[in-house]
Amino acid sequence: MNNLVVMKFGGSSVATPEKIKNVAARVTQKAKKNRVVVVVSAPGDMTDDLIEKAKCLADTPDLREMDLLLATGEIQSIALLTIAIKSKGFDAISLTGPQAGIYADNVHTKAKIKKIRPQKIISELKKDKIVIVAGFQGINPNDDIATLGRGGSDLTAVALTAALKATECEIYTDVKGVYTADPRVVHDAKRLDMLSYDEMLELAGVGSQVMMSRSIEVAKKYNVVIHVRSSFSDEKGTLIMKEVPKMENVVVSGVAFDKNESKLSITDVPDRPGIAAKIFGALAKKNINVDMIIQSAASDKRNDISFTVSKNDLKVAVSLLKNISKKLGGGTVIFDENVAKVSIVGIGMRSHPGVASKMFKILADNGINIQMISTSEIKISCIISSRDTTQAVRVLHGGFGLG
Ligand code: ADP
Ligand code: ASP
Ligand code: MG
Repeated sequence: MNNLVVMKFGGSSVATPEKIKNVAARVTQKAKKNRVVVVVSAPGDMTDDLIEKAKCLADTPDLREMDLLLATGEIQSIALLTIAIKSKGFDAISLTGPQAGIYADNVHTKAKIKKIRPQKIISELKKDKIVIVAGFQGINPNDDIATLGRGGSDLTAVALTAALKATECEIYTDVKGVYTADPRVVHDAKRLDMLSYDEMLELAGVGSQVMMSRSIEVAKKYNVVIHVRSSFSDEKGTLIMKEVPKMENVVVSGVAFDKNESKLSITDVPDRPGIAAKIFGALAKKNINVDMIIQSAASDKRNDISFTVSKNDLKVAVSLLKNISKKLGGGTVIFDENVAKVSIVGIGMRSHPGVASKMFKILADNGINIQMISTSEIKISCIISSRDTTQAVRVLHGGFGLG
């Protein structure tokens, strides 16, 4: 649609009535020259608070009901923002994910968007209304509310930009763009002017929560340029876009960390074909994502297999693994929650050798022990003890000259 902008505001941008007024002012300013679709998250920490409440009532709350509960946060935001915008004399309408035509799959709390039928959004835009859509939610094949995974409002915004063929996707947040490291942890972190999809995908995948990684996959697929910028200033932010040649000159673009990791090991599993498939197949069936995997060299026809999963999945993974170990004639299952992952990311790594050894040396020089390592073409990650996280991020940021 011509001249259409999608603006997404995260939870911190709509946390209080004052902040909602600020968003209303920004949206109405934009609406003077453009058609506007706004995507909003739940206010402040509401999603976390709702999860906590449910966990007071059940160890593993029913997932269908969790989705209904969590979706209420975003619904409050769309109604409040629409009230604020209409009070300024602009016409606007709020739409929940289902009303906006966002169709998701059956996986409660981690649903994927299957398709978007934007007819209702388009018809409201044609009536010259500002359309305010609840992020992070859709309707599934059972006609139930589904949520799209943490940070899912980014995904809603990018997917709507693609579906509506909007000219811009602006992600407004509480920082001025994407930085070389989380500015809350590294005080001399710098804002990046631009970043390739692949770098942002890796950064998001290893813990930079500023963008949800699945939103970047969609942006890459549909070539949506994302502008990450501040809700509280007019400064230019960071463009996330297709790789351009000058990006290659930067070896390391960013450092990230993830404290939501836990390490599991299953000892003495028989060394024969099909064992790994059984273990990881069972985890996949429960929708548990596995990150790093290490299998030790076999001795006595037996192996140890270690891997990491998110802390939220640990309980289920441990009980599953204990069962499997019994069935396979394996040994004990060990787990450690006190680990974190630190990573460095940059497309320049492809053409500059020695980056990994430099990373390991910086960590070693600071007395930080590496427990697991994984690499991709443009990323190196290490599992370390969680108490070393902040120090590791800071020394890597400094060591690679990012400050
Ligand atoms: P929103 O509520 O707007 O979705 P998020 O909390 O999801 O905001 O993401 C913004 C936060 O991401 C920032 O406050 C910042 O602390 C954190 N962050 C982590 N890594 C980075 C990074 N590399 N660049 C910018 N922000 C980062
Ligand atoms: N409110 C949801 C969350 O906290 C979605 C989002 O903020 O993008 O994860
Ligand atoms: Mg977010």
